Amino acid sequence: MPFNIMTLSLVDRPISRAEGLKILERDQFCCQYCGLDGKASFENALVMSVDFVVPRARKGKKDPGNLVACCRPCNMIKRTRVYANFDEARKYVLAQREEMRHAWETKRVRPAARAATA
Ligand SMILES: [Zn+2]
Repeated sequence: MPFNIMTLSLVDRPISRAEGLKILERDQFCCQYCGLDGKASFENALVMSVDFVVPRARKGKKDPGNLVACCRPCNMIKRTRVYANFDEARKYVLAQREEMRHAWETKRVRPAARAATA
């Protein structure tokens, strides 16, 4: 997957760098699912990509109306399921994230926190 030095983001091959950049700029480099700000840090910029709302695997078009800025975690959660519309997809992704967060917080699946937090 090519790394785009101009946007500090990884852009999937199905979209050219110029096309991806246009979508990221339109969406102000914010994940349209969780709101992650791709401009806030280098680490955030690294995980930004462009999502096909209707996946390519489901004949989703490479059309600005079908493309949104998306962080990789949201993209992985969304996968290639088909939703009635973007709002339904967003609702699903956010619910999954919340479930995962709850599991992380309650089941202690996370690594031990570092000693000092101050
Ligand atoms: Zn996201």
